[in-house]
Amino acid sequence: MCKKIILAILLINIITINTLHCNDNKKKKTVVIDAGHGGQDTGAIGAISKEKDLVLNISLLVGKYLTEYMDNVNVVYTRKDDTFVPLRDRAKIANDSKADLFVSIHINSNKSDKPDGTETFAIGPHKNESNLEVAKKENSVIVFEEDYSTHYEGFDPNSAESYIMFSMMQNININQSLSVASYIETEFSEKARRKSRGVKQAGFLVLWLTSMPSVLVECGFISNEKEEVYLSSTQGQEYIASAIYRAIKKYISELTALEAALEEPAHKNKPADVKLGETQNENRVVFRIQTTSSSEKIEKTHPQFSKYNDFYEYTENDTYKYTIGKFYSYDDAKKMQDSIQADFPGAFIVAFKGNTKISIADALK
Ligand SMILES: [Zn+2]
Repeated sequence: MCKKIILAILLINIITINTLHCNDNKKKKTVVIDAGHGGQDTGAIGAISKEKDLVLNISLLVGKYLTEYMDNVNVVYTRKDDTFVPLRDRAKIANDSKADLFVSIHINSNKSDKPDGTETFAIGPHKNESNLEVAKKENSVIVFEEDYSTHYEGFDPNSAESYIMFSMMQNININQSLSVASYIETEFSEKARRKSRGVKQAGFLVLWLTSMPSVLVECGFISNEKEEVYLSSTQGQEYIASAIYRAIKKYISELTALEAALEEPAHKNKPADVKLGETQNENRVVFRIQTTSSSEKIEKTHPQFSKYNDFYEYTENDTYKYTIGKFYSYDDAKKMQDSIQADFPGAFIVAFKGNTKISIADALK
């Protein structure tokens, strides 16, 4: 009896040691926290505070929570004190650190003292003038940089024409960016009890220059007296920071779970792995290769798609998404994804059950 107990304890120890060992080996995710503005660039100015100071406090708190509570996250800051950092350097820090996520933290302002609430942006074409105005305001910080016109290829932050390129662009990280944005806005409204103005898209240079999923958070309006008082308070900053932290945690946890599911060899013989040509069942999981996102509808006959089969369109967050190929096995989808790299370097696999998009992790269950 006694020996059995000792054996059990030994086994538990071995399992624990192995588990710890596995966790140590797990690749860390890098999250870049970008406190907007700094130095001579104050950002928006309120009655009692400046945007650059409030966003620095919030950013440092987000980083502190991530460092303290998430073993598998490595935090990189674009600034940790009151210094001026050019937009392109912020993006370079994120790109050089091969970050998994970039979160730029800002505070909104308006000529009127009425508007209030939070909003989180992903890169993309703006749907209305007020979204464009937010992007213009945040992009205009480049005029603090010498030779900004050269560095940003003639981009004029105040000219509407300069924003046309964002309506044409296809961003391979858009789905992930929109997911993070929606997690942040949900946390703001449900947990921090803020008024959420929702997830939006506009042409932010700093997001455009980053090569990973990236969002820009406007934590409230400095021009609104009540919100400025809240955002200037320690408690307000802690609530806002913990909401952003929880959203990042949710995203990183999903990303990690997805990668673990893909590494799991067992998925090869799951029911989803059925040979092509069998009777189709609407409830079966189907894998497709997403190649393109667009705010404008694209026809099946477009030269981009003409040489591929199983063209499929769906919409998400008011954006048209286009996929090619149709597979019942993830591995077959992966082969096609690899084979179309020349035409679609950023193509990725998406999964559907019926007409509902599901996560790859769920598809492989
Ligand atoms: Zn700002």
